[in-house]
Amino acid sequence: MRLKIKIVGIIQGVGFRPFIYRTAVKNQLKGYVKNRGDAGVEILLEGKESDIHNFMRDLKEKKPPLAQIHEIITTELKGKNEYATFSIHKSSKETELSGSVIPPDIAICDDCLKELRNPKDPRHEYFFITCTNCGPRFTIIDTLPYDRENTTMRDFPMCSFCLKEYKDPLNRRFHAQTVACPRCGPKAYLTTHKGEFVKHKDPIREAGKLLAEGFIMAIKGYGGFHVAASTTKDKPLIRLREVKHRSQKPFAIMARSLEAIKTFAEVSKEEAALLTSYTRPIVLLNKNSAYYLSDLVAPGLHNVGVMLPYTGLHYMLFDKVDEPAFVMTSANPPNQPIIKDNEEALQSLGGTVDYFLFHNRQIAHRCDDSVVRMHGKNPVFLRRSRGYAPAPIMLKEKAKRCVVGLGGELNNTACVLLGNKAFISQHIDDVENVETREFLENATKHLIRLTNSTVDAVACDLHPKFTTTKLARDLAEENGWRLFQVQHHYAHIAALMIEHGVEEIVGVCCDGYGYGMDGEAWGGEILLCTRESSDFKRVAHLEKQPLIGGDLATRFPLRMATGILHKRVDVASWLLQNKTHFPHGESEIQLILNQLEKSNNIIETTSCGRVLDATAAVLGVCYERTYEGEPAMKLESAALKGKDVIKLEPIIKSNTLDTTQMLLEIFENREKYPKADLAYSMHSYLARGLAELAIENAEDNGIRTVGFSGGAACNQILTSIMRKAVETAGLRFLVHEAIPPGDGGVSFGQAVVGGFFQV
Ligand code: ZN
Ligand code: ZN
Ligand code: FE
Repeated sequence: MRLKIKIVGIIQGVGFRPFIYRTAVKNQLKGYVKNRGDAGVEILLEGKESDIHNFMRDLKEKKPPLAQIHEIITTELKGKNEYATFSIHKSSKETELSGSVIPPDIAICDDCLKELRNPKDPRHEYFFITCTNCGPRFTIIDTLPYDRENTTMRDFPMCSFCLKEYKDPLNRRFHAQTVACPRCGPKAYLTTHKGEFVKHKDPIREAGKLLAEGFIMAIKGYGGFHVAASTTKDKPLIRLREVKHRSQKPFAIMARSLEAIKTFAEVSKEEAALLTSYTRPIVLLNKNSAYYLSDLVAPGLHNVGVMLPYTGLHYMLFDKVDEPAFVMTSANPPNQPIIKDNEEALQSLGGTVDYFLFHNRQIAHRCDDSVVRMHGKNPVFLRRSRGYAPAPIMLKEKAKRCVVGLGGELNNTACVLLGNKAFISQHIDDVENVETREFLENATKHLIRLTNSTVDAVACDLHPKFTTTKLARDLAEENGWRLFQVQHHYAHIAALMIEHGVEEIVGVCCDGYGYGMDGEAWGGEILLCTRESSDFKRVAHLEKQPLIGGDLATRFPLRMATGILHKRVDVASWLLQNKTHFPHGESEIQLILNQLEKSNNIIETTSCGRVLDATAAVLGVCYERTYEGEPAMKLESAALKGKDVIKLEPIIKSNTLDTTQMLLEIFENREKYPKADLAYSMHSYLARGLAELAIENAEDNGIRTVGFSGGAACNQILTSIMRKAVETAGLRFLVHEAIPPGDGGVSFGQAVVGGFFQV
């Protein structure tokens, strides 16, 4: 029998061909296996039917751990057998099938780690040790098929030892494209902040020592540069915060081991599994009562973002020091993507760091670390990037057309929706200028090429002035694609529907800002969405509140609080007590009050984020937003051990949840109750009110499912209170599992509206 097999999935760069080779040989089959230019794999088998049958069984049951098989296409061939052996053929450039993709970067595996530590191993202490089961993939691949010459490893020809392993079918590095050793592979080296070479026989461990001594260092990794520093000393962190103009934003840290993490943070079983998984994301962990790291790591927050080492280099940093963890924050200049090139690093980080730890392998595609938080046993993606992108999210059904979603403005990603797969790009961040637009455009085109997709349409936000909207228009025109403009909160809820495969939902969507159908600022919305209507209805929302000074009200939450409270009480004297929190003091306060008196030209918003911000300001938890979501995140931290002391019944008038009265109660009781209780009370009020509205509208329309999406769905207190209310009412409550609830999920939501809902 002769059988041609084509496979679609994640099957290049995961040890798949070696596995096929071994399986074919084991079953006495002849023929070949080869990689194709569409990221797929082609196999020809010649032999007995029963042997082929066993081969097919092994293919499904014994495939390598990182391989994903999405589709197997078999064709029986006529004619005589042609092959005397089974072999791995040279890759072809054929691109016929679509929907395969290369794997994400994978953390160092246990076998490689053992070899790294074994003095007898030829790769002992080799910082870039990898095998077919681990190492960089997405960040080193320029083009397909996944062969060494198509990756940035092409600059490092294998030595005879590595080549021998590469050619040995029984070796773990058989056809491993990243195979390298101290003799032939990339080298690490240390330089001063000016790029002057620092001679040292052990540059990586020396770097670890320098960090422990209090120096700041830029370290090149798989997908970009990190800026690293001590976590136990204040001095380098003060300096780092000064030069980076980052007074409050939490720094992610890398801990030496799980045991080390447990000395300063609480780690559940699920969190430990996530921390040690091959994706190695940053996991937000609650600080424990013994927390002893510098308060400058994650100021004002109850949690800290922690990851474990994911390369040999990272492990070695800790070898000669006692530090429990180092700061490891993405090195990106303001409003720029993460730095990936050595020259660029010298130029833009030279003024920030004391030393550089470079290696001489290029990064083909940048990729930030992922960030995940557990809500009990459920993971919530704050950022889905390294370790996950570009692996697809498998959907329950197939889209009608191939759509590219370009997302919104902040915290962005792109998404290619193809059939029953959604390929979400790495984290792009805020798309506001030429550099980030270029990053988005390149990442999108790369993703289209990698998956060999033929795009039919492009989807973007409704906002006429977003950079991404303009880019979508350009791409639509250039390529003759259809253009879908999708309202921001509708995209969030549509994402939830397709992720769970539901037909209809009443979706609660809470975040900071989204351009509404009426052009107004939305952000606390209840949408009724059905696939049948291929549209949505805004059935309820939070009360509109004034945004005094537009963006200034977002940056200085006291403005938000003033706008809300001013309706009921005279806040002038309270504001004067807080005048130091206004950049222009008394005169600014006067200006704000005048503006409110005249009440002309004031934009209004239904944003949930802004109400939480205002609460944070009233309670003195946060007076200035120095990073996205700061006041609301600090309010959640403050509320952690609180209870509902106000117990205000939700005030609902014509499908609008009043937010003024609750803030007023908090304002008037601010001396009477602990901050924690008041902070919790606001969470409780909003969650109960939104749930009540959602349940009412669901019941009125005979809908059994309520969902929660938007950036505020990362908030554990809001989510758990809402869940309880909805489930108590006998309805199903849905949240995101694989898609980020925040704006990193918007590109997916836009794409699914175009791909599933539109005619
Ligand atoms: Zn390995
Ligand atoms: Zn070698
Ligand atoms: Fe949003």
